[in-house]
Amino acid sequence: MKTEFAVLTGGPEDSSLYERAGACIRSGGLVAFPTETVYGLGGNGLDRTASGRIYAAKGRPSDNPLILHIARREDLLPLVKAVPSAADRLMDAFWPGPLTLIFRKNAVVPDETTGGLDTVAVRMPSHPAATAFLLAAGVPVAAPSANLSGRPSPTSAEHVRADMDGRIEMILDGGPCDIGLESTIVDVTEEVPVILRPGYIGLAALRELLGEIRVDPAVLSRPSEEIRPKAPGMKYRHYAPQAEMLLVEGPAGAVEDYIAEQCLGEETLRCGVLCSTESAPHYRARFEKAGRRLPVFPMGSLKQDEEIARHLFAALREVDRIGLDRVYTEAFRDGPLAEAIMNRLKKAAGYRIIEITGKE
Ligand code: AMP
Ligand code: MG
Repeated sequence: MKTEFAVLTGGPEDSSLYERAGACIRSGGLVAFPTETVYGLGGNGLDRTASGRIYAAKGRPSDNPLILHIARREDLLPLVKAVPSAADRLMDAFWPGPLTLIFRKNAVVPDETTGGLDTVAVRMPSHPAATAFLLAAGVPVAAPSANLSGRPSPTSAEHVRADMDGRIEMILDGGPCDIGLESTIVDVTEEVPVILRPGYIGLAALRELLGEIRVDPAVLSRPSEEIRPKAPGMKYRHYAPQAEMLLVEGPAGAVEDYIAEQCLGEETLRCGVLCSTESAPHYRARFEKAGRRLPVFPMGSLKQDEEIARHLFAALREVDRIGLDRVYTEAFRDGPLAEAIMNRLKKAAGYRIIEITGKE
């Protein structure tokens, strides 16, 4: 299949692209589109064949449900059995935006879209290109992240092209994503809402709005026989680079020393470092002193962890592109997005975490 790559300019000439993309969705095709979180791989969410094609294009297990994307709040009502009052408050506060809600589903939503569950995930994105595309489609668009299953989520149209070229009808290029991490998922089907996946909208903001909220145990620890995630996607190996990834936690100085020594001590494997812009010069100086040019990926400033979130998945893809064998990553514990960033890093590292004690 030939994949059309369409660059959006933000001007009036985009409207014919949206029309084409919308018509493609209505006729059962797949279109990747930008959102404020990551790029989505869209198909008609009410068409079981289109959902089947999404799973096939991604190589995704079909028990891992898709998120329905809508452009207008009223488009929610036909999809769900009830809208609990907590959901109303969450939508008032955070829609359109990076928040996905889980509802009991109506029969119009096929089992293929929800991986066989009797609940459905719905989100209203805020990216203007996503809104224009969804309005042109005129149907709820089922869209997981537009990456091959297991690979890091795409935060640019180039990432989508790398994974999806030849597998889908069209890619809408709206530039790099602003947030760079997938939406926060909250299940509102229970008496007390539950966070199933952390994201840009954090626990503190949700708790302030709702009072009581729980966090699914699988968000905090490694999924196991005892701890089964309620968001089925959270159980899969995810976001992971091909390289072996190790997450190092502890006082900043001790972490830098440990990572630099490990990288320099390794002679056969090609190592690299994911870090903050503050610590990157320290690694570079250590490597230069040793006469080694090992790759260092500064993702953003510790004072602005939004930058780290925005660049995280691109950094993981870069690790693969240059073919590293092993990558060490610093832990990021202090900023407002720490929960969401650490959730992705732990999963990418397959929960291989090294705890260092020692000097600050
Ligand atoms: P992705 O769009 O690739 O981030 O994947 C969608 C995520 O939403 C996966 O982790 C799914 O498991 C989760 N999800 C979708 N629908 C449901 C649902 N009905 N109940 C719980 N989690 C869901
Ligand atoms: Mg995904």
